[in-house]
Amino acid sequence: MERTNKNLPMHKASARQNKIWDVIIIGGGASGMMAGISASRLGKSVLILEKNKSMGEKLKITGGGRCNITNAEYDTHKFLENYGKSKDFLYSPFSIFGVKDTFSFFEGLGLPLVIQARKRAFPHTEKALDVFNVMKKELERTGAVVKLGSTVVNIIKENGKITAVKTKEGVLHAKSYILATGGTSHPETGSTGDGFNFLKKLGHTVENPTPSVVPIEVSDAWVHLLAGVSLSFMKITFLLDGKKQFSKTGKILFTHFGLSGPLILNSASYVGSLLEAGKVEAVIDAYPDTDVGALEERIIKTFDENKNKTLKNVLKDITPAGTAKAFEMVLGSMDLETKVHSVTKEDRKKIVNLLKNLPVHITNLMGYDRAVVVDGGVEMKEINMKTMQSKIYDNLFITGDLLNINRHSGGYGLQLCWTTGYIAGVNA
Ligand SMILES: Cc1cc2nc3c(=O)[nH]c(=O)nc-3n(C[C@H](O)[C@H](O)[C@H](O)COP(=O)(O)OP(=O)(O)OC[C@H]3O[C@@H](n4cnc5c(N)ncnc54)[C@H](O)[C@@H]3O)c2cc1C
Repeated sequence: MERTNKNLPMHKASARQNKIWDVIIIGGGASGMMAGISASRLGKSVLILEKNKSMGEKLKITGGGRCNITNAEYDTHKFLENYGKSKDFLYSPFSIFGVKDTFSFFEGLGLPLVIQARKRAFPHTEKALDVFNVMKKELERTGAVVKLGSTVVNIIKENGKITAVKTKEGVLHAKSYILATGGTSHPETGSTGDGFNFLKKLGHTVENPTPSVVPIEVSDAWVHLLAGVSLSFMKITFLLDGKKQFSKTGKILFTHFGLSGPLILNSASYVGSLLEAGKVEAVIDAYPDTDVGALEERIIKTFDENKNKTLKNVLKDITPAGTAKAFEMVLGSMDLETKVHSVTKEDRKKIVNLLKNLPVHITNLMGYDRAVVVDGGVEMKEINMKTMQSKIYDNLFITGDLLNINRHSGGYGLQLCWTTGYIAGVNA
């Protein structure tokens, strides 16, 4: 049971209203819960204020419900390559609480992690809910108090210190405050950008949020037709006004609005900047390890073995699994009822060309509602990264998605929450 003031007798509830807590944490998401545990383990009196009816609503949907909790790259230099320009700010906090510490932390809570493809780490049960449950249990064990349904509406300052937080029910005081209200992705989970507004009002510089690790919207009907199909070895090349910009190889997931999957999510930030510069298209190479000549030979062989079948019937043998219907659509101008022995050389070359260069027309990035990571947040140079302390208010600590750190998908968002949450909790 998460504890709320509603469960307390009236006199106790009002006593808590007047109490000066050691630490008040605003926001009970991944980083807020971590901060709560680390402060509470040190014997501090901790109050977490969470506006939802339960903590960790976003944590519960991470990794499609499996929770990609971190990435098992133990070389900190290599690990930090996934945070773009922000990496230079992160050596210091990661030397205090890094990937190995995350493994030990969850193992200590009785939830060992397993490592899967691309070193992505998950709880061994592959359930995000279990991550939430072990953290909630630890908060209870250490005596942290959680007040649910409690929205912070203002943070009060005086003489370079935070003196109180205002909720709809009243004003609460602490020696230190940890702001852990998250960013703006999937706002239905509670992250509606309140923290950015508080920080701006307090005089911090906040880079405006833009979706960065996010699916891509495309206009092509054949893509929509493949909704739910995922192809693990594809090469996609992005073009700006017809000129090649960059290519990536990996897994692509087709959805009813466009493209998703790790490869796409990690390209989105760059695609977003291309969209601002002009017309963006992409071409997908469905057989990146086979050159045009070898692919054509393979098709000739398949045609020879199926001489009297129609092109429509043979499509499934020459296209990646599950995509024949989409190719029927793309090849629309060709007569698919033609027997393959009558397919002209010109048409055969057209098919090969399409398999190597499937055109995709990009219309947009999906918005905050579908973003995994949203860029933007408080400038790192305004934070002491050894303590996560604001350089303007020494009793204010800032964690997780509130930080202006560009990051890849694959466990890097949550690792940042574990690292910054732990450090804020220990220092608050
Ligand atoms: C669909 C999806 C899947 C993801 N999957 C992964 C993954 O597998 N691996 C990974 O590393 N990262 C993943 N991420 C990113 C990761 O979930 C976030 O980086 C992480 O949850 C951020 O934690 P946080 O503590 O900063 O904020 P949040 O988890 O957003 O928590 C903020 C909390 O603050 C509360 N709050 C907000 N305003 C107030 C207020 N005014 N008063 C009181 N409470 C308030 C909110 O209700 C919320 O509970 C995913 C994100 C999404 C959207």
